[in-house]
Amino acid sequence: MSGVRAPQGPPAHVVREADWLRAVELVRDAGEVALVCHVAPDGDALGSMLGLGMALRRAGKRVTASFGDRSFAVPRLLRFLPGQDLLVEPAAYPEEPELMISFDVPTVDRLGLLAPNAGKARELIVVDHHPSNTGFGTVQLVDSSAASTSVLVEELMARLGLDVDHDIATCLYTGLVTDTGSFRHSSTTPAVHEMAARLVATGLRTDEIARELWDRSPFAYLKVLAAALDRATLDRHAAGGLGLVWTFVTRADRAAHCLPYDECEGIIDVIRRTDEPDVAVVLKEDDEGAWQVSTRSKGQVDVGRACTALGGGGHVRAAGFTSHDSPEETMASFRSLIGPPASPST
Ligand code: AMP
Ligand code: MN
Ligand code: MN
Repeated sequence: MSGVRAPQGPPAHVVREADWLRAVELVRDAGEVALVCHVAPDGDALGSMLGLGMALRRAGKRVTASFGDRSFAVPRLLRFLPGQDLLVEPAAYPEEPELMISFDVPTVDRLGLLAPNAGKARELIVVDHHPSNTGFGTVQLVDSSAASTSVLVEELMARLGLDVDHDIATCLYTGLVTDTGSFRHSSTTPAVHEMAARLVATGLRTDEIARELWDRSPFAYLKVLAAALDRATLDRHAAGGLGLVWTFVTRADRAAHCLPYDECEGIIDVIRRTDEPDVAVVLKEDDEGAWQVSTRSKGQVDVGRACTALGGGGHVRAAGFTSHDSPEETMASFRSLIGPPASPST
């Protein structure tokens, strides 16, 4: 059972004052800034990047922003975010940026195609909140107690004297509301609500943002969800008896209903509501045939550690990895990492 229970993992990251000062100096002095967020961007990654990007452009900087996916496309869910005219394809990204800033990226491999550019950047400011952050880059604005990367972007903007307008607030709020699970996760402190209040005061339509993020899907989603729910499995003995519920979605499921891959992101939120187990997993087969694995825990099992051991990463309660094995083989590896099964008599 050793290694199963949270909290575990690396020591907490806090931002040193010297790093804040250095980051402010570098950004103030830069004429051109290249921004990057993690591959397959979520609301926090893209929202944090576009929010700061719009503020820097307004301050007179030349800004490029991107993420290093081979099939470069903003997920349908996030197409409402303002500032997307800052985005360039990885091939058009500066090869040796003077100043590069990464958002929500814990490890160099999550930069995807843009990892070599980061390697050649003269300065790389890393803005992140993953406990698994490896400390890459020349300036680390990494705080593992921050609810989202956008919390750190708000502070950086305040230190730079940059105002948060309605469009920037839409981006930062999207990071905050997605990473706190609509203010439901334990990361939702009074400071999180205070930041939300500052952002909402710019005139945000939080109802419209919530609808964009969680309350719309094509009809085909219902059919694919039904297939995933139909094959959900509850394993009460996994993780030393803490339990596991899991399912998978194949390319064939999606092809049968013409559903794009990125429409399946919400399935984990249905699976994880199951009362009995601590851990929930959804494996999604992407268009290349690889399995993108989403894992969640209610807090007793550290899924971040298990996913890191399988080449991925994330947080104690929300993490992921990529697998090229079958769902059954992948789950056998994952199960062994979250602890031995409880004996049937327990
Ligand atoms: P998701 O299940 O895609 O919502 O991701 C949950 C968390 O796991 C996020 O913090 C992601 O950054 C992290 N994560 C998901 N997939 C991967 C991966 N392939 N490699 C590293 N981290 C991942
Ligand atoms: Mn993220
Ligand atoms: Mn995040």
